[in-house]
Amino acid sequence: MSEKLLNAESLTVHFARAGFLRRSHPVKAVDGVSISLNAGEVLGIVGESGSGKTTLGKAVIRLIEPTSGRIKFMGIDITRAKERELRKLRKHMQIVHQDPYSSLNPRMRIVDIIGRPLVIHGLVGSEKEKRERVAELLRKVGLNETLLFRFPHELSGGQRQRVSIARAIAPMPKLIVLDEPTSALDVSVQAQLLNLLRAIRSELGVSYIFISHDLSVVYYMSDRIAVMYAGKIVESGSADELFFNPLHPYTKLLLSSIPQPDPKKRIDITIEGEPPSPVSPPPGCRFHPRCPMAMEDCRKVDPEPIEVEKGHFVSCLLYRDKA
Ligand code: SF4
Repeated sequence: MSEKLLNAESLTVHFARAGFLRRSHPVKAVDGVSISLNAGEVLGIVGESGSGKTTLGKAVIRLIEPTSGRIKFMGIDITRAKERELRKLRKHMQIVHQDPYSSLNPRMRIVDIIGRPLVIHGLVGSEKEKRERVAELLRKVGLNETLLFRFPHELSGGQRQRVSIARAIAPMPKLIVLDEPTSALDVSVQAQLLNLLRAIRSELGVSYIFISHDLSVVYYMSDRIAVMYAGKIVESGSADELFFNPLHPYTKLLLSSIPQPDPKKRIDITIEGEPPSPVSPPPGCRFHPRCPMAMEDCRKVDPEPIEVEKGHFVSCLLYRDKA
């Protein structure tokens, strides 16, 4: 697990807004984020809705144009690569979207939905070969091949998401961005899909960027975790470090809000206040208006990441003496 698959440095994604005054105040969805991923590794990205995690996931595989920064994938700088140059790499960069109801073309049959990347990347030579390969992929994701000629509306939500996963693994990618892949599904279906994703990862050795608002799900799936808040990563480290030794006040609050089955262990803390506007985030530490530990300096100083333990980084002024 040492070969670097992905390296994104100082990535920003700012969206222009319509109107003269608004143009000079873009939406800063991702603001100076660096992440890396080894071959076969799972990086979890966790944060509240609007933290920029989905935008980051899409930007690193160039489904969204980064505003600045640098992205290297499989050793190739793809930051400004044209679509023609990206085409060869696309089969290695796949995505599974959150909503299985809107991510599948309702007019296409399952055989064509899953078979499309096989055809686009020239991985099958005939219709028969495509059908056989798609039937094999359906079995791999726990579906019956009798679904080959069905349409998406004839499937349940869980089945549709399995189809999305089959489509993503069809070209044998090196990286799949999983954008909240189970959050639109029932709890029992969620657990089955998470186990399926873990089994696929073990079998194919594929890397995941696993995006979720749920820290317990991210912990279950990931080797390393990055916590995002208002377009920045505020803490990152191994999944165990983050889960059992959280340092940033925001990570601690996310952890304390995980429902505990044992009522004696339950700590019902909700994170007070709303996430800041991505157009005009607060000065200093972006978390300061909601942080129970905020000090005077937090309003003025934007904390840099500090490596507190090997591989465990935190951006918080409480740890500045460890820099
Ligand atoms: Fe809280 Fe200050 Fe740390 Fe920000 S820098 S998380 S406001 S203590």
